[in-house]
Amino acid sequence: MTAMKGQLFDLTGRTALVTGSSRGLGRAMAEGLAEAGAAVVLNGADAGRLREAAAEMRTAGRTVHEACFDVTDEAAVIAAFEALDAQGIAVDILVNNAGIQFRRPMVELDTADWRRVIETNLTSAFVIGREAARRMIPRGRGKIINIGSLTSDAARATVAPYTVAKGGIKMLTRAMTAEWAPHGIQANAIGPGYMLTDMNQALVDDPKFNAWVTGRTPSRRWGRPEELIGTAVFLASAASDYVNGQIIYVDGGMLAVL
Ligand code: NDP
Repeated sequence: MTAMKGQLFDLTGRTALVTGSSRGLGRAMAEGLAEAGAAVVLNGADAGRLREAAAEMRTAGRTVHEACFDVTDEAAVIAAFEALDAQGIAVDILVNNAGIQFRRPMVELDTADWRRVIETNLTSAFVIGREAARRMIPRGRGKIINIGSLTSDAARATVAPYTVAKGGIKMLTRAMTAEWAPHGIQANAIGPGYMLTDMNQALVDDPKFNAWVTGRTPSRRWGRPEELIGTAVFLASAASDYVNGQIIYVDGGMLAVL
């Protein structure tokens, strides 16, 4: 037994890097992982917002490091990992969460915007996952949680590059499993449904779309960011040590009926 009863979800002594954790779902998951005992490395591209989030968590007594970088900037990603190495901070848990979305029909979509969504939501998860795994493999353990979406499994109109990126996240998670599970690393994904964050504010404010979400989701409401915490802590902890290559949907039942 690697974990005693009562310690299954304990992350004491672990360090979690959560990309895009200055706000939204990443921030909620960082809070949850810290609550379970982990030190957290917060990330975002906006330095001011990141500093504010880190200060709030420190005030709440959490151990927080800051790594401000754009997840699409490979040199900055590598420099951030080297800076963590230099401080003796080893990432035990990586949550690839940073992402963007905007709505535009494909016939109106520029190739540059297509690339930007793929690079932010998918390529970054490969690059950051690779940097993390290069350090986890020699230690023989690590937990990687990639954030997918309902669109990992169901295409929606006007979000084509997002849908392709999130479908890619599901297969990247399996590819990571194929290569890294033999080294003691679990890679899994979470597929959130319609959650109340900045990303969706315009949709919440659109009465027609809002009514569609609340009417169509079997739970009859939007999800709250903190409702991802249980799944994130589970996938980060010893409780999931034999769970590999899965995507767990946290969507109020939406995918079941979409
Ligand atoms: P938000 O827009 O609320 O927050 C996005 C976070 O990602 C911010 O912390 C932002 O940092 C960061 N970020 C964005 N681009 C970059 C970048 N290039 N480099 C570094 N950080 C970046 O999004 P959500 O919290 O809603 O979404 C988080 C993840 O969950 C995304 O991958 C999203 O696709 C996914 N998701 C969200 C759903 C939802 O309903 N909200 C549903 C399904 C999946 P900064 O503050 O610096 O801009």
